[in-house]
Amino acid sequence: MSIQFDEMEKRLVTPSPSPDDEHEGSLRPRSLRDYTGQERACDSLTVFIEAARGRKEPLDHVLLYGPPGLGKTTLAGVIACEMGVNIRVTSGPAIEKAGDLAALLTNLNEHDILFVDEIHRLNRAVEEVLYPAMEDYAVDIILGKGPSARSIRLDLPRFTLIGATTRAGQLTAPLRDRFGVVLRLELYTAEELTRIVTRSASILRIDIEPDGATEIARRSRGTPRVANRILKRVRDYAQVRADGVITREVADQALGMLEIDELGLDAVDRRMLSSIIGHFDGGPVGLDTLAATIGEESVTLEDVYEPFLMQMGFLNRTPRGRCVTKNAYAHLGLPVPAGDFEQLKMENG
Ligand code: ADP
Repeated sequence: MSIQFDEMEKRLVTPSPSPDDEHEGSLRPRSLRDYTGQERACDSLTVFIEAARGRKEPLDHVLLYGPPGLGKTTLAGVIACEMGVNIRVTSGPAIEKAGDLAALLTNLNEHDILFVDEIHRLNRAVEEVLYPAMEDYAVDIILGKGPSARSIRLDLPRFTLIGATTRAGQLTAPLRDRFGVVLRLELYTAEELTRIVTRSASILRIDIEPDGATEIARRSRGTPRVANRILKRVRDYAQVRADGVITREVADQALGMLEIDELGLDAVDRRMLSSIIGHFDGGPVGLDTLAATIGEESVTLEDVYEPFLMQMGFLNRTPRGRCVTKNAYAHLGLPVPAGDFEQLKMENG
């Protein structure tokens, strides 16, 4: 078997689901007990779910936001399971016309959940159907055209909308205000990801040592989807180049071939940092300029790369653009600027 590592690297950094995630369904936890991490969000949800169930009411509408791959879709499924209701899954760009959304809504049962991924990408006409649906459990349908057109109001079952977005800031105010519960998902700690990798390995019957799981977790940029992907690639490596068992050494060698470094930065992370240093003297540089320089989309840099680099303390956002920190120079093995470099950059920015 030959392994195309170039191909793999491309897929590993893809923010959205890729064909490589074929087992994602089986790896998704179904209950809150199996859902690792996100304690703050889960604690709140446990209370709201219990209260809603106690009152025999639907759960209030929930907005989940945070970078891709952190478990928003998974959490929506978990909520449905804990509430004991059905879930319909769709996404903002998939709902093209107001009528499509009306059809989805009228087909729900009492207390069901409608999950809308990428809810910031709903078009205006569709979004307007959502307002009365969320607030009054009703849709207004226009019959006929021109002067003879009239509107009738259809009652809907009392449902829960769960919206997911990578960018809460892009939601219109009227839509955001209609969510009773707004939860931000955070990047996972290495310890939480170790539990996720260990669980996934046992579901996929992958032979892994605890140190091997920790090594993968440490280098998965705080994201379960990435951790699961890397686990599968490391399994391939272990099968072909070792005796099939993922030890720390095997994980380390495989991650080295995938160009994922000691701290979990991949080739794009490093290109982003070295480009800010090489072309823009450490910053500040505007996001679009930076994206054009390294040949990536601004949205991808903002949603996928920046949260991790900021969490690692390699990057700052200032009003005038992005700046690297001294740590970034040190990590790339470049001479670290003297003086209070970061303060200076923040002031310039
Ligand atoms: P998002 O909707 O935020 O892009 P997903 O919910 O699709 O992310 O999660 C991607 C994958 O990561 C899922 O298939 C699941 O296997 C895994 N995952 C996400 N969150 C968790 C978690 N808290 N515990 C275990 N696995 C998780």
